Amino acid sequence: MKIERVSVIGAGTMGAGIAQVFAASGHAVKLIDVNAEFVKRGLASIDANLDRLLRKETITLSTKNEILGRIRADTSLDATTGSQLVVEAVSESADIKKSVWKDVAARVDEQAILATNTSSISISELAAVVPKPARFIGMHFMNPVPVMKLVEVIRGLETDDATTTATLDLCRWLGKTPVEVHDYPGFVSNRILMPMINEAIFCLMEGVATKEAIDEVMKLGMAHPMGPLALADLIGLDVCLAIMEVLHRDLGDSKYRPCPLLRKMVAGGRLGRKTGRGFYEYGKS
Ligand code: NAD
Repeated sequence: MKIERVSVIGAGTMGAGIAQVFAASGHAVKLIDVNAEFVKRGLASIDANLDRLLRKETITLSTKNEILGRIRADTSLDATTGSQLVVEAVSESADIKKSVWKDVAARVDEQAILATNTSSISISELAAVVPKPARFIGMHFMNPVPVMKLVEVIRGLETDDATTTATLDLCRWLGKTPVEVHDYPGFVSNRILMPMINEAIFCLMEGVATKEAIDEVMKLGMAHPMGPLALADLIGLDVCLAIMEVLHRDLGDSKYRPCPLLRKMVAGGRLGRKTGRGFYEYGKS
């Protein structure tokens, strides 16, 4: 089955990037969020990304318009009807994701591939709410999606070979490099990355160094392209906290306890770039 019609649910940091990448590779995309304002914000971020490529002369104006022309915005899950692939990129909460997937599964053909972009939640657990878990898979894109090559592909307990092969092929078609990993809390990427970010936040909380110094040490000393606190702002502090909660609960080891400063910042609404303020300040988002 050639996949041509794709729905992306959630038009936030990741959903917008995922919609852009699918549209850029020729797919007809429905971009769905809970209200018109969120969808508009997602479309605006795609527009800004494409403008950047236009300025760099990576794409032409007509390519930009073709890509935008392939994306239809919607606020109802009814728009998923007819999709051959649904990629879910809603907030990192098992309850929200399960409710979305129950509603989506009632609307799409049973041959459709159902892919979640979760950063940490069990693929098998989410798959258990749909009638055909064999077609359910983890497709974990990295941020920023149009730039980052990696997609972690995660099979659930019931995911079948055909779904896995089709997903791996699709990643390559998008110009990405898929890496298959097993369904385990945080998979590989966040099992390793998030404890490092959490530890950087402990360093800041305990006054080991300033935020700038912590980031500089990791950039210059470990050749990381950006420091862990700046990276946490890019990812979203609410997303970082949600992932640490999953690691802590599902692996049952106190080494994954979320840093109290991370909790405080999320409780206070300092979520990073998306709210204009996290560890650093950004222009109005
Ligand atoms: P985000 O907060 O930027 O966006 C989430 C979007 O989902 C919001 O626009 C919200 O309105 C929407 N949403 C919530 N409930 C919904 C529903 N019922 N129906 C439709 N839309 C709904 O979050 P994000 O950073 O884009 O993360 C989305 C998913 O991608 C999460 O599972 C996250 O763990 C994962 N992820 C995030 C990153 C990252 O760096 N931020 C990287 C890889 C994976």
